[in-house]
Amino acid sequence: MTSSRNIAILGSTGSVGQSALDVVRNVKGLNLVGISGHSNLDLLARQAAEFEPRFVVCTDPANSDFSVPGLRNTRFLHGEDGLIELATDPEVDIVLAAIVGSAGVPSTWAAIECGKTVALANKETMVIAGELITALARKNNATILPVDSEHSALFQCFTSGRMEEVERVVLTASGGPFREFNSAQLQLATREQALAHPTWNMGQKITIDSATMMNKALEVIEARWLFDMDVEKIEIVIHPQSIVHSFVEFRDGSVLAQMSPPCMKLPIQYALTYPERIEGSSPRINWKQALSLQFSPPDYERFPALQLGFEVARTGGTTGAVLNAANEVAVDSFLRGEIGFTDIAIACREILDQHNFEPHPNWKQIQFSDQWAREEMSKWMLA
Ligand code: NDP
Ligand code: MG
Repeated sequence: MTSSRNIAILGSTGSVGQSALDVVRNVKGLNLVGISGHSNLDLLARQAAEFEPRFVVCTDPANSDFSVPGLRNTRFLHGEDGLIELATDPEVDIVLAAIVGSAGVPSTWAAIECGKTVALANKETMVIAGELITALARKNNATILPVDSEHSALFQCFTSGRMEEVERVVLTASGGPFREFNSAQLQLATREQALAHPTWNMGQKITIDSATMMNKALEVIEARWLFDMDVEKIEIVIHPQSIVHSFVEFRDGSVLAQMSPPCMKLPIQYALTYPERIEGSSPRINWKQALSLQFSPPDYERFPALQLGFEVARTGGTTGAVLNAANEVAVDSFLRGEIGFTDIAIACREILDQHNFEPHPNWKQIQFSDQWAREEMSKWMLA
């Protein structure tokens, strides 16, 4: 790289976080200033010992005395305040937002507020508060670079033309483990089956979201805000091989795709080294072997979460916060065996339909909607 960059990885103990550390290990010029973990303290301690960053944050209030003895140049910070101190430290150039769920919003918000470049994996931030976050980024001259593989693909393809020449963007979806399940089979789908993703190795929450296809729904909303994209121009296509990460169709009919084997190291590295492309350790397509790629339209009946994504992307306002919160609670409940697989989308639809819509919410109103949806979802499960 032509110039070195100071990186903070929020959520370094997660799936994206660990891949990001692999990128840092491989790319000269990426200096790790700080990391954060929540409950996986063994791993956080190992990462602290290996990288000896200036800051190590443990966000879990139950572990507010976490530290690793013998690391003289490392400061141990705790809780959300510690996370925000890291995300806004003047030495940090790029914040990789890789915490899962709504817990990732405040630190991402703080980084954007002080004009950092944010490499955004935490799609929930865009789902919950995309309109406010993008306005905040504009106001503070902050740059948001996509890490989600589909959005990274679109971002890479956009460079072939002008935004007003884009006719359509097509998000690819593997279809998850239940791509070929019928409705009866989906009703009986188990936690273990849902966690066995065919192409991607990811954290639990996004793996369940991929099985319900809520992940793609969240990505439609993410694309809508991240690229200020007209929702009518967003399409989804099922692509079981997860080699094409998305398409951009220009108005002359030309379609550009970004392709690579399914591995998050590439989009993470692209965001961290942008606009440069440098050699890395991401796997390559083997062109000496036959490669078949399939594309087919999604089934909105079997995967009703998809419809929710388009609706929320169109409606905006508080609907994103409500859908996200309802889904987070539902996924947790499914993982604990309290509700069935198909209940996730059913419950989200009901909570969304009941909610008191606010078209132009401020952050307080968004937080209120998030809390309301969590409480309603808890009641839904007791009913
Ligand atoms: P993981 O569950 O693997 O990791 C989540 C990270 O967040 C861990 O570091 C975890 O700490 C931390 N964390 C969990 N709860 C809290 C909390 N309350 N406060 C602060 N930190 C917390 O998730 P993924 O890495 O799979 O996903 C991270 C984000 O990236 C998600 O938003 C996901 O949608 C997005 N994403 C992920 C992709 C993937 O391939 N995994 C692809 C595209 C996007 P600990 O483990 O120590 O408890
Ligand atoms: Mg994705």
